Amino acid sequence: MPLPNHVHVAGYDVCTDHYINGKRVTSDSHFEIHCPIDQRRLGEVAEGRDEHVEAAIQAAQAAFPAWSALTAAERLPYLQRYAEEIGKRAEMLCTVESNDAGILLSRMRHGVVPRAMQNILWFAQHALDLQNRPIDTEQAHHLVRHDPAGVAVIITPWNAPLMLSTWKLGPALAAGNTCILKPPEWAPLTCSILADAADAAGLPAGVFNVVQGIGATTGAALVRDPRVARISFTGSVPTAKLIAQAAGANLVPCSLELGGKSPFIVLEDADLDGAAATAALMYRNAGQVCLAGTRLLVHRGVADTFVAKMRALVEGLVVGDPREEATEVGPIIHPRQVERVKGFVDRAVVGGATLLWGGGPHPFGAQYFQPTLVTDLKQDDEIVQNEVFGPVLTLQTFDDDDEAIALANSTDYGLGGVCYGETTHATALAERVRTGFIWVNSFGIRDLAAPFGGIKRSGIGREGGDWSFEFFSDIKDVVVPKKPFRASFAHR
Ligand code: NAD
Repeated sequence: MPLPNHVHVAGYDVCTDHYINGKRVTSDSHFEIHCPIDQRRLGEVAEGRDEHVEAAIQAAQAAFPAWSALTAAERLPYLQRYAEEIGKRAEMLCTVESNDAGILLSRMRHGVVPRAMQNILWFAQHALDLQNRPIDTEQAHHLVRHDPAGVAVIITPWNAPLMLSTWKLGPALAAGNTCILKPPEWAPLTCSILADAADAAGLPAGVFNVVQGIGATTGAALVRDPRVARISFTGSVPTAKLIAQAAGANLVPCSLELGGKSPFIVLEDADLDGAAATAALMYRNAGQVCLAGTRLLVHRGVADTFVAKMRALVEGLVVGDPREEATEVGPIIHPRQVERVKGFVDRAVVGGATLLWGGGPHPFGAQYFQPTLVTDLKQDDEIVQNEVFGPVLTLQTFDDDDEAIALANSTDYGLGGVCYGETTHATALAERVRTGFIWVNSFGIRDLAAPFGGIKRSGIGREGGDWSFEFFSDIKDVVVPKKPFRASFAHR
């Protein structure tokens, strides 16, 4: 028998209540969640009402003075225990997120869960260097302090709930803030397990809170509250605009990590086997990856060979149940998202585009879509300009570097990119692509110390390393003169 206010997922009971002030808090209204693998109903999750938002903000505010007064060294053992408690729940987190969000179980085990622990530990350790960063000049010592900012609201999307929530929680907590996490309503379960881990780690009540709910109501109530000091958001452009308006009304700093339409450039001098293997990887997570290089821009002279190599790899991709070890491409999160993906492809074909492969639902099940490649496109076509967020790539060709750059840079997005070619040539070209990051002859190399984020419609601000700490801190310069100071109107 499942426990009350829990959902039972593959042998694990996951609490679906909020977690506020160190306690589970139930709600008299709920929303339903379904498994993307087979559409079975997983259960009901507490819906955040105004009273839950209010309770969470009050709890986070009340916990702030004591948590922020700790030094980073004093916070470190709490966060080390937190990472350990996440590690103790590793198999549960893997199984639950695979069922809730459709992410490959193998990827959860080998990539996401180790990274989630690392997200907490790494920032806790690096916060030790933050307290004082003096600048010494002839005139003065500047004790540059990173002071905790206050209550941080963290809002994450369904395509990587555990990874993205910990990526924000790590620096926010390590920098001395108290946090309220609003999980994605299509995949909220692992965020609830993060609350169990925080509880078991002994994080003081109110330091970390989870308010479940729908974005347009619960999320909106959190971001418009003037007591919130920081809003860290990862999600779509339309939501980001609403959040930026709410943040603007209160002049609250917000960090926005948004969608992408990243170019994947293959130069004439590229290793075509390597480029094709990496291009096939763009179908990972059924293409629901913000940083995927979804626009293949290939030199005309090598396009046929590249496409043939990629076709051979794509034909071998195993589409299916993400819980199976052999599966490489899993389901799409929600029936609405399947319709959205199909709509993009259908409209492109009606508009004159050609399908090189794929193009429709996959026989494995209702929420599976064939890995698809669309060509014969114009730069202003909808499918070239807008994020599909499914296993759909576009292919365009170019004749020289300038044309490659023109194509790469002419969308409203600017998140990432990939550039394959002779290393010096590819690096020089990569420097001309207008995005927040770009991988040369590689893909997906991430380092927690490096900046991550986009330009144009792909976001505002950077996460990672010092950039995360700058966002989650109030930076203050305490200026102590080196020589005795006498006030004078001649001084500026
Ligand atoms: P979304 O914008 O619909 O929702 C994201 C989160 O915002 C959810 O938790 C949702 O409940 C909440 N939300 C919705 N409306 C809100 C409102 N008015 N106020 C406050 N919160 C609100 O995005 P999604 O469909 O869940 O996620 C997919 C998008 O996320 C894609 O565009 C993808 O590219 C992007 N993404 C970006 C990155 C990155 O790092 N740049 C990473 C992953 C996903």
